[in-house]
Amino acid sequence: MKNYTQILLVFLATTCGILLVNFTSQQTKPQLNKSIKITTDYKVKKTKEEWKKTLNDEEYRVLINKGTEYPGSGEYNIHMKEGVYNCKGCNNPLFTSDQKFESDCGWPSFDNAIEGSVEYKKDNTLGMSRVEILCTNCGGHLGHIFNDGPTESGKRYCVNSVSIDFKN
Ligand SMILES: [Zn+2]
Repeated sequence: MKNYTQILLVFLATTCGILLVNFTSQQTKPQLNKSIKITTDYKVKKTKEEWKKTLNDEEYRVLINKGTEYPGSGEYNIHMKEGVYNCKGCNNPLFTSDQKFESDCGWPSFDNAIEGSVEYKKDNTLGMSRVEILCTNCGGHLGHIFNDGPTESGKRYCVNSVSIDFKN
């Protein structure tokens, strides 16, 4: 009986610890969409060779190799038409024109994403601590999210033009 009580106490302490850690780490993640998750099993799965057949060199460099297009060079940097921005890799709708704003940062910027379409991943490369944004459907690299947005959400989804495809 004593052993059972000890096991129960250890179990409760561990569970509380896990809950506390989860609660604390939640605070540092973007709070916009409820469906924040990191997927490892994407619906659209392709080998590098298959991606190379459907993407051009620059799209492949950014979407698959997590590159960044040169600032101010992208097709959608200054682009305020009404429509939807889909993932260039898999056509998944990611952002609407209502979510786009002019940011002067050199890349297309959005203050939110279509629910469930974007996932968030810690990125400590290049000596910086950033949050990478990826397509939930294919895992394609879109850009990064920052907490300096000028609208109510406070977020700036900084997205490479070559990662997205505009449809009106
Ligand atoms: Zn995609």
